[in-house]
Amino acid sequence: MVPAANDLTESVDLPPRADLGTDREAVAALGGFEPGDPRGPVTESDRATLAVQLGRPARGLVSIAARCVCSRPLVVRTAPRLEDGTPFPTTYYLTHPVLTAAASTLEAAGVMREMTVRLTRDDELAAAYLRAHELFLASRAELGRVPEIAGISAGGMPTRVKCLHVLVAHALAAGPGVNPLGDEALALAISARLWSPQRCWCAAKAVAGLDL
Ligand SMILES: [Zn+2]
Repeated sequence: MVPAANDLTESVDLPPRADLGTDREAVAALGGFEPGDPRGPVTESDRATLAVQLGRPARGLVSIAARCVCSRPLVVRTAPRLEDGTPFPTTYYLTHPVLTAAASTLEAAGVMREMTVRLTRDDELAAAYLRAHELFLASRAELGRVPEIAGISAGGMPTRVKCLHVLVAHALAAGPGVNPLGDEALALAISARLWSPQRCWCAAKAVAGLDL
């Protein structure tokens, strides 16, 4: 998921980092998700939408962990072992094409490298990210223990940032204040107008093919 450096998307105007808060209030001010949004059971309509979003049926689907304002899935919660027995560490998986494109754009802009450097210099951030890793593992353990991936979370946690898609999915599923770098990536995406939680982005051309 790491595009080459020369793929850097020039059209994205990322705001100065100083303008972005990573605390709960700042993310909420940007329209961050709050836990407790109605998620509801997985419906046949959800499964059909996921198949379009992913280009294949969703695997290991447990629930919809975050939804668009229109109620279509943004993030799925996935079993730690897929139907074919494969261990699957990425409990929260970003499915919405506009959000996955937003995460890719931030990755191409060098956000992961910069975050990883900050983790080595900012003890408070490193501690919060470690806590996010632990909460991620605890959430996955609710779905069953899989020895092959014991202690291994996803996205580079707890000491690196290797996939913003994972961190954004975790932030959307858990709500602000759980995954600091997921919150921050989401805030960056919102500030850069790549996505926002207040409106439905399902009609964007990246999701053409959805039955709207
Ligand atoms: Zn929508």
